[in-house]
Amino acid sequence: MRIGFIVPSWHYFKDPFKLQPYWELYYSSILKKKLGEKTDIKIIDLRGKSKKNEKFNEIINELDEKDFYLYWIMKSGDANEIYSIVDLLKKKFPRSKHIAGGTHVDMLQDECKKVFDSIIVGPGENSFLNAIQNGSEKKFLESYSKVDFADTPYPKRDWLPYNSVISKNMFKQYGDYNATMVYFSRGCFYRCAYCVYNVPNKLQAKSPKLIEDEINYLKTNYDVQAILLKDEIALNPNKKIFFPQMEAIGNSNILWRGQTTSIGTYEQLKLAKETGCLELSVGIETVDDNVMKMIDKTWQSEKIINQFIENAKKVGIKIKICLILGLPGEPKNIVDKTINFIEKQKPDYVSLSGFCPMPGSPIYQNPDKYDIEFIDKNWDKHAHLLFRFSNNESVGLPFRYKKQTHWGNSFSREEIILNIQHIQRWLSSKSMVY
Ligand code: SF4
Repeated sequence: MRIGFIVPSWHYFKDPFKLQPYWELYYSSILKKKLGEKTDIKIIDLRGKSKKNEKFNEIINELDEKDFYLYWIMKSGDANEIYSIVDLLKKKFPRSKHIAGGTHVDMLQDECKKVFDSIIVGPGENSFLNAIQNGSEKKFLESYSKVDFADTPYPKRDWLPYNSVISKNMFKQYGDYNATMVYFSRGCFYRCAYCVYNVPNKLQAKSPKLIEDEINYLKTNYDVQAILLKDEIALNPNKKIFFPQMEAIGNSNILWRGQTTSIGTYEQLKLAKETGCLELSVGIETVDDNVMKMIDKTWQSEKIINQFIENAKKVGIKIKICLILGLPGEPKNIVDKTINFIEKQKPDYVSLSGFCPMPGSPIYQNPDKYDIEFIDKNWDKHAHLLFRFSNNESVGLPFRYKKQTHWGNSFSREEIILNIQHIQRWLSSKSMVY
């Protein structure tokens, strides 16, 4: 049996090799374990080879025939490209089957059923194998509550060449480290109105033993010196999970950075620092209370954010705050308010995004409530990291507010673009972007 797991180009990233295709590696490792060594599984890594490349069709046409092509679509921005890959491969290899899962598929099942032979809704640990073995069914559904993340195998990286697994750019602001990406938990129990990264809507944590095993594997085989925890909440609020996880990282003698929420305590930050944490990014998202209410994030306030940043500074962890512009409810002085907030809080870095109504998020599901009159369903235009390195970008902000909204006159798309560009250039001038 020949299986190809396709990684799309990640066309919205300036350097798509700065991150790794973790889920494709993870599910390939699980399939290999279940199907045995004789099964031929390849990762088809198309990072950096986007549809914009005029040779894209040629690249796809040169791929070998497989019995199954698999896809894990986390971002809707990848969807159109993947649909066109499926289309080209179906013409060339009509007997091959195409199976897809991931958040985009969970959220847009009807659309995806028309493209793929089978879709996976929920986690893929069992469903990829079921779909391969019972190919006539259209949908394979399993609940995350049935599939634990604690003791599943960690992804083997030897599916890819060294330079596709290790990046020197991931920690370049801290030194010349061999670095790669991991997940020590998946999901998030909050329900912020713009978010779809909270799948599953709970925090499933890896066991400390698995964490140590994975880090040791990365150190032994790839001389990894630093890891990026892509978990939504790296500082697990459950102390029974947090302490053993940190102990496991600390025992492994490695540097790390990750993302978390502003709810992290001083005690947690201190321990994180002791285990090698260099930097935490935290989703502040907006500096305006009304917007915070509209996006259902009132569990954080300026006081909580302030305390978190202060504590991080005390223990010596650098802080990157993540902000989004273009959210519903923004006042006309949002640019000044944001710059004042940054000047007052003095984070080390800022990651500024443009709001993107992602399919499946509460805002996407109920645009009227947020006075959104149009959402572009061309997924190629769905991106959120905008104007970080230049003002010349055309994707992103794929929506329009009504002129008159329940919070007053709205910003037009052009005005939101100017707001983002203004703050991005200000941040660049302060060397707060990387
Ligand atoms: S934005 Fe972050 S905290 Fe909010 S639901 Fe998404 S992952 Fe959770």
